[in-house]
Amino acid sequence: MSVDPRYAVLFEPVQIGPVTARNRFYQVPHCNGLGFTRPRAEAAMRGMKAEGGWAVVATQECEIHPTSDLAPGCEARLWDDRDIPALAAMAEAVHEHASLAAIELAHNGFHAANLLTRTPPLASNHMVTDSIQPLQARAMDLADIRALRRWHADAAKRALKAGFDIIYVYAGHHMTMPHHFLSPELNQRSDEYGGSLQNRVRLTRELLEDTREICDGRAAVAFRLAVDDMAGTGGMQAEEEGRAIVEMLAELPDLWDVNVAGWPNDSQTARFAPDEGYQEPYVSFVKQVTTKPVVGVGRYTSADRMAALIRKGVFDMIGAARPSIADPFLPAKIEEGRIDEIRECIGCNICAAMDWFSVPIRCTQNPTMGEEWRRGWHPEKIAPAASDAPVLVVGSGPAGLECALQLSNRGYSVTLAEAGRELGGRSRRESGLKGLGTWSRVRDYRATLLSQRADVEIFLESELTAEDILAFDFAHVYLATGARWRADGVGRSTRRAIPGLDGVAVLTPDDIMDGALPGDGPVLVWDDDRIYMGGVIADHLAAAGAEVALATPAPMVSPWTENTMEQGRIQAGLLAAGVGLRLSQRLVRIEAGEAVLACEYTGTETRLPCATLVTVTERAPERALYDALRAQDHGLTTLAAIGDALAPGLIADAVHAGHMAARNHERDPAEAEAELFTREMVSL
Ligand code: ADP
Ligand code: SF4
Repeated sequence: MSVDPRYAVLFEPVQIGPVTARNRFYQVPHCNGLGFTRPRAEAAMRGMKAEGGWAVVATQECEIHPTSDLAPGCEARLWDDRDIPALAAMAEAVHEHASLAAIELAHNGFHAANLLTRTPPLASNHMVTDSIQPLQARAMDLADIRALRRWHADAAKRALKAGFDIIYVYAGHHMTMPHHFLSPELNQRSDEYGGSLQNRVRLTRELLEDTREICDGRAAVAFRLAVDDMAGTGGMQAEEEGRAIVEMLAELPDLWDVNVAGWPNDSQTARFAPDEGYQEPYVSFVKQVTTKPVVGVGRYTSADRMAALIRKGVFDMIGAARPSIADPFLPAKIEEGRIDEIRECIGCNICAAMDWFSVPIRCTQNPTMGEEWRRGWHPEKIAPAASDAPVLVVGSGPAGLECALQLSNRGYSVTLAEAGRELGGRSRRESGLKGLGTWSRVRDYRATLLSQRADVEIFLESELTAEDILAFDFAHVYLATGARWRADGVGRSTRRAIPGLDGVAVLTPDDIMDGALPGDGPVLVWDDDRIYMGGVIADHLAAAGAEVALATPAPMVSPWTENTMEQGRIQAGLLAAGVGLRLSQRLVRIEAGEAVLACEYTGTETRLPCATLVTVTERAPERALYDALRAQDHGLTTLAAIGDALAPGLIADAVHAGHMAARNHERDPAEAEAELFTREMVSL
C-alpha cells in the first residue's frame, strides 16, 4: 500500500551520523516507572513502539554512576557491566523491528539525592539538593570533573556493548549536570568551568567530544538541550544563551533533540497548553543554526501538522513521548492511511504521575501501556471471540466504550445501551469543563470506531432497568453505569453528612457538568477530594462570573496534581481569577447562610458567607441496576459491574477496567485471576 502523498515526507529515511532512521518518527526519552527494576516490561514496551513504526526508540534517563542515584525512582541504570543485560534486552526488542535504539546517559548532579548509595551528591557548587531532602551537594573540584567524564565515557562504552545506536549527552529539564553547569544561576564557579558562557559550555563540549571518540562511527551522538527555561529574563532564554549554545556546538553532535525546561514546561498538560506545537516558538531557530538533524516535541498527534513541520523545515524528525504512549502504532496508522484509528493523547499527564510513584506507566487513552509484558497485552491485537454469543454493555462512559470496542475487536456482536442523548459518560461531561476539552478524545476515538462496525448496535436515550435486561436475550451483560458525586459532604475528612446543608443551595460537579450554575451570592467549593476536580470547578465557575472561594483541608489547591505537574499553574490560575483560597481549612457545618470552617491544625473556626455550596468530596458508584439484578435469579452467564460502577477512579482506570473485562470475557475466572499479571522477581 502506498502512503498518502500528503504524509510521504514523514516516511523518508534520516541519516543520523553513522546510522539511518527508517522514517521521521522519533520516540524521545521518557520515564515510565519500569526501568532497571522491571527490565522485561521496559523492553517489551519499547519494542512495541518500534513495532508500531517509531524509527528511533529511546530509553528514559539512564543513571551512569552511583553518585547519580535517583532512588526511589526507577529509571534506566548503567553503573557497571552488570546493568548491561537489562538494557541490551531493550535494544534487542527495538532492533527486532528495524528501529534504532537510543540511550539517554545522565548524571543528575544535585538533582540526585543519592538516598540509596549514601554518597554526597555532586554539583557545580556547594548547594542544597533540589529535592527537599536534609542534605547538600558538594562542589566538584577538577579531579571530580575528570572523574565525571570518565564515568560518562564508561557508560557510553557499556551502552555500545548493550547494542545502542544513538548515545545521548543530556542537558535538560534542570535535571542533569551539563544543564547545571550551563546555567548562569546554578554555576557560580570561578575556574575554567564557570563564569563566561564559553566556560560554562566546557563540560558539555568535553562530554560530547568524549562520547564521539568512544562511538567512533559505531553509534551516533545525540545532544538533548533545553534551549529555554521559560522563566523570562530570570533564566536561560532561547533567543540569547540558548541560541549561543547551539551556535557554539552546532556541528558537534550528530543530532539535536531540543526542548524547554523544566519537565512541567516540557510536558505541559492540555489544560494549560491546549495546542500542538507549544514549544515551537522556543525551538524553531535550531535548524537555522545547525546542519545536523533536529528533533523536537509538542504533543503532536495530527499527521497534517507533522508533515507541515518537516516541509517548513522546523524539524527533521517528529519527536514524541506522550503521543507514542497513547498510540504506539501512530506511525503505522499514518503509513497505512488509518488516521481515524489514531488514539490521540489527551494531555492529562497520568503517564507522568505514575513515574513519580515509581509504578508501571499507565495511560488514559492506551490501557495496554505498561501491560505489554506483564499481562501480554498488545495495543492492536486481541484474542478472537470464544463463542458467537452476543454481549450487552450498559453505559457508554470510558469503561463501557472501551469494553464494547474491544469485544467488537474480538469479533463479538455487541449492543451498547446509553441512558443519555450522547455517548461518552464522564469523558464527554468532564470535557465541557474549563480546560478539559481534549478529554473528549477518550470518547471520540472509541465512538468513531464503534460507529463503523456492522456488528455493533448503539442505543441512545435507553435507560435500562433490570426487567429490560432480563427481557432481552443476552447471556452476557457488563454494567458500566458510572458513579455520581455525593451531595452530602461525606468524603476524606468526614464519614458523616455535613450538618446544615439543607440551609444552602448545594451543587455537585455532576450538576455543573449538566449545565447548572449557582444563583446569586457567594459560592464555596468544598474540595475534600484534593485530586483535580475541585480546582477545575472553581476555575470553571469563576470564568462563568461567580464569586468563588475554595476551601480544602490540604495546604495547597488540588495537591494530587503535583503528580501531573500542574499544581503550580492551577493555583496561579485560581489566584489570578480572584478565587478566594481557604487552605488547611475543613468545612464543619453550614449555619445561617455561612460556611463554618475550622483550621486543620488548631481547630479555630472562621465563617464565610455562602449562598451556594459545591461539594467535591467523593463519588458513589451507580449500583442500583447491578444490585437489582443480583437480588434475583437472573440466569445470566456473565453479570459484572465495571469501571466507576465498581470502584470510582481516574478515567484511565475506567478505560483499563473496560479493556480488562473484554480481554477476560468468557475466560475461566479462576484462570484469569491466577494470571493477573506476571511479576519480575529479584532472583537469589
Ligand atoms: P465509567 O467512567 O465507569 O465509564 P461514566 O460515569 O463515565 O462511567 O459513564 C456511565 C454511563 O452510563 C453514563 O453515560 C450514564 O448515562 C450511563 N448509564 C447509567 N445507568 C444507565 C442505565 N441504567 N442504562 C443505560 N445507561 C446508563
Ligand atoms: Fe497522553 Fe494522558 Fe496518555 Fe499521558 S496518560 S500519554 S498525557 S493520554
